[in-house]
Amino acid sequence: MNRLLIIGPPGAGKGTQAVKIAEKLSIPAISTGDIFRQNIKEETELGREAKSYIDAGNLVPDSVTNKMVRARLAEQDAQNGFLLDGYPRNPAQVHELDDILSESSQKIDRVLLLVADNDELVQRLLGRAAEQGRTDDTEDVIRHRLKVYEEETAPLLSIYRDRGLIKEVNGLGEIDEVTERILDALK
Ligand code: ADP
Repeated sequence: MNRLLIIGPPGAGKGTQAVKIAEKLSIPAISTGDIFRQNIKEETELGREAKSYIDAGNLVPDSVTNKMVRARLAEQDAQNGFLLDGYPRNPAQVHELDDILSESSQKIDRVLLLVADNDELVQRLLGRAAEQGRTDDTEDVIRHRLKVYEEETAPLLSIYRDRGLIKEVNGLGEIDEVTERILDALK
């Protein structure tokens, strides 16, 4: 039970929870958003490829994202488990992840779906924009990212639901309270 995904709309708290859960389970938390942001900061080729999509609140093309995830999952620290945050984000990425894992006879054990209502999500993201000034946290881009989630990411949930892997967790409440709920869902 140590190959895990955390999925949810922007602002649901995936990143915060992923770090805490991964630490508890002694597995790496792998966030595609963080990897992209780091590359943008360091002005790498990958960062240059991804930046315009991220700033507009769109998904980075699968060709770019898939290659990056494949390389990250091949690293030593991910061999005994991982918590992926932000990937897969559309049905094509689900199939790519299946392929990547099957090459080493691995598969996903559980998918955590972190939920919160839209008004709360927009409020949280606007709050974070004020604090951290992430370039994709302006109100228009936030609304666009929520729409991209509904249109491109939500459809992949039925795939994992059919496989019986999804555990839904309420993302409202104190951070530690949500962490406890997630740990319960993994028992
Ligand atoms: P949030 O969870 O707040 O939406 P993330 O940090 O997960 O933010 O992602 C930020 C941006 O990075 C996304 O809006 C998208 O442009 C890009 N990104 C992250 N993961 C993926 C992915 N799996 N496929 C395509 N683009 C991605």
